Amino acid sequence: MYLTKKKINGKEYYYARESIRKGKKVISKNIAYLGADKKEAERKMKEIINNRDDKKVLKPINAEKIMVKEEKKVEQKVADKKLTIDELATFCKRKGFVFKSSEIYGGMSGFWDYAPLGAELFNNIKADFWKFFVHDKENMTGIDASIISHPRTWEASGHIGSFKDVAVVCKKCKKSTKIDKSEVGKAKCECNGEYEVLGEFSLMFKTSVGALNPMDAYLRGETAQGMFLDFKQIYDTSRQKLPFGIVQVGKCFRNEIAPRDFLFRDREFTIGEFEFFIHPEDDDCKLDDEHLNLKLRLLDAEEQEKGGDKLKETTIARMIKEKRLGKWHAYWLAEQLLWFEKLGIASKIKIREHMKSELSHYSSATFDLDYEYPFGSKEVGGNANRGQYDLKQHAKFSSEKMEVYDEASKQRVIPRVIEPTFGIDRIFLALICQNYFFDEKRQNIILKLPAYLAPIKAAIFPIIKEEQFEKLARDVYHDLKKEFYVVYDSGGSVGRRYARNDEIGTHFCITIDEDSAKNKDVTIRDRDSTKQIRVKIADLRDVIRKLINNELVFERAGKIVDTRVKENE
Ligand SMILES: [Zn+2]
Repeated sequence: MYLTKKKINGKEYYYARESIRKGKKVISKNIAYLGADKKEAERKMKEIINNRDDKKVLKPINAEKIMVKEEKKVEQKVADKKLTIDELATFCKRKGFVFKSSEIYGGMSGFWDYAPLGAELFNNIKADFWKFFVHDKENMTGIDASIISHPRTWEASGHIGSFKDVAVVCKKCKKSTKIDKSEVGKAKCECNGEYEVLGEFSLMFKTSVGALNPMDAYLRGETAQGMFLDFKQIYDTSRQKLPFGIVQVGKCFRNEIAPRDFLFRDREFTIGEFEFFIHPEDDDCKLDDEHLNLKLRLLDAEEQEKGGDKLKETTIARMIKEKRLGKWHAYWLAEQLLWFEKLGIASKIKIREHMKSELSHYSSATFDLDYEYPFGSKEVGGNANRGQYDLKQHAKFSSEKMEVYDEASKQRVIPRVIEPTFGIDRIFLALICQNYFFDEKRQNIILKLPAYLAPIKAAIFPIIKEEQFEKLARDVYHDLKKEFYVVYDSGGSVGRRYARNDEIGTHFCITIDEDSAKNKDVTIRDRDSTKQIRVKIADLRDVIRKLINNELVFERAGKIVDTRVKENE
């Protein structure tokens, strides 16, 4: 018998485990739950062994049952208090959203894999970004540029010269981290210890291209440059006129000194961003009331320069009046907030204005869009006024004229640029935090993702193990599959199947019961309300589509079923 521990949501729990030889096989079994305190667990363990030595028969304990109970208790506690980043990572791993990259070899710091459900959610976010910022707009066009580009790109953009961090180690607690160059001599460790500077390191990932005369190249540190490099060709071929935008979503790489905080500071990550090209003298953007009256919480530069962190309620109109940003810049900041509203995370977004001292080498005004995660406020997006910096730099380094002929003003101009950016991985996490609930009554987690973002749109349950009903369920499944990502789930009690789908955010569970064959209908259960409706199989695809797109209220999509009995089956 030996002591073993299990990690649940980042906390350790102890069990007494025993290996018994059965013929040629050795079977290991948890035989007692010993609590969360190691010393206490060791004491209990000794007691069990002593009892055995006294030849007292140890009463068999159903350890598995206790473990399930304990896990539920822990999850309850997780929901009661604020989620920590470790608990979030554990949830994402346990439910198949995010895995550590190459975990069988111990993993790689700063690299993560989207697991099956995570990949679905991640793709749905990227698709919605594309729909919102490319397809739904008149003057936007999308590209997918290469990850490796000519190395001169990064000299021109300033990444080779200034895309560097300073590595430091705390003299007191020995923790190493990175700081910005401007913070050398000023920044202190969390423990109040002073930093010792280890050196300056480039954040660019170097690689070599070609076999015979290999050339040094870099994995892109931002997606922006691809859009600047292609700008003129797009202007010539896409029939866009100024102002117009180029959109891109894709992988970026930064050789971080100290990757940390799960999906926040990584070496490989996905950015969704666009460059909006405007005539340099044009700031005549017509904002409508939807943009102007948009309310937001702002941490302005003055407040930060005073050392404060008080937010103020303001509107886009007031920000323009206070000359914090130009009209086109304001328009795109508003559009970013409107996308967050669509995703359902806007209530926890705040805007932080950059102080003059922290503006990037290319920007004259920048805003961070921070999301209030349970473990702190963190940046999920940004919005920078890059001016003409990048196009002028590329003109200088490539000797290519980056100006275009603007029909309206009859001038050749180098446009100025507004750049809204989103960290797609960070939005992924914001969506999980925003929608993670523990339901006391149901005793399980419910991931209340909007249906259009949920990894699985519907789960189909046959509940009678007879060929005719299973065939009917299969037919329903195959028909829905033509249009949506749905699953066929026949394992365990119906209650268990509901719980399993609640936890991964499946909005609709469809059961095929004994009336289904006779009446050619099914029951749809709504994840959030647990209400159930009866819908004809012939109408099912149409109803599910309308429910996903919010074109139909659940209660009116079919005949309401009395569910008092059903949920406890
Ligand atoms: Zn320290």
